[in-house]
Amino acid sequence: MATSSKTCPKCGRRMEEGFTIDAGDYNSPTVPGWHPGQPDKRWYGLKVDKAEKRPVATWRCTSCGYLESYAL
Ligand SMILES: [Zn+2]
Repeated sequence: MATSSKTCPKCGRRMEEGFTIDAGDYNSPTVPGWHPGQPDKRWYGLKVDKAEKRPVATWRCTSCGYLESYAL
């Protein structure tokens, strides 16, 4: 689904596939993930079930810059 060509729902122009960068660590940026349920905060950060986490692919409109994200 996320690999086919897409058109922008706002202006109807072409969208290109990409990803947003998690800027938490400058030297090793990561792709943000999607996780079901509510965030469970612990002393070390958020509790995450790796089997449930999905990478987020984001499409950007080449005309108006609208972003559309998919967690596959
Ligand atoms: Zn657009």
